[in-house]
Amino acid sequence: MRIVLLGAPGSGKGTQAKLIIEKLNIPHISTGDLLRGAIAAKTELGLAAKEVMDKGDLVSDEIVLGMLKERLSEDDAQHGFILDGFPRNVEQAQMLETLLQELEITLDHALLIEVDPDEVVARIAKRAEIEGRTDDTEEVVRNRLNVYKEQTAPVADFYKKQDIVTEILGKGSIEDVQQRIQAVLRF
Ligand code: AMP
Repeated sequence: MRIVLLGAPGSGKGTQAKLIIEKLNIPHISTGDLLRGAIAAKTELGLAAKEVMDKGDLVSDEIVLGMLKERLSEDDAQHGFILDGFPRNVEQAQMLETLLQELEITLDHALLIEVDPDEVVARIAKRAEIEGRTDDTEEVVRNRLNVYKEQTAPVADFYKKQDIVTEILGKGSIEDVQQRIQAVLRF
């Protein structure tokens, strides 16, 4: 199964993805995690990305697509995957479309986790305490939410045209949201 997870920062995409992969034997591919890995490894690409990420802006499409392509070519991604944090804008959605066509595969689901903005800010504040991410400060979070509204939200419309979007109510406990996802994915 090939799934794209959409939703604002703090909507619970990463948490839900980790639970989905426990059930379906597919990798969770998070471009944010790939970028944080490059930063931790102190690669040139990681250093360039860190500056952009610390402001809450988007890293260039070319850099992210390059990392994604590499990751998708690994063995464990050949029978499906769950993408978290990609595509982040309509250009990336188009790039992914081209890549999937080259690979002769299609997406099965785009799940859009819906949460209200106040809830998102509260969740990110909590995550900041637990994970200590340098892009979880209040000012940066505000920018990330703006970037989401302006650049990422239109990605849902892109997939609505393909008729693969399901909106998932992000309210309630982690288990509540997971059950809604499982009902859609039927596992
Ligand atoms: P995330 O872990 O998905 O919240 O991503 C953290 C940060 O990594 C974002 O605020 C961006 O700066 C960067 N990032 C992650 N995924 C992408 C992407 N697909 N395109 C551009 N930047 C990204």
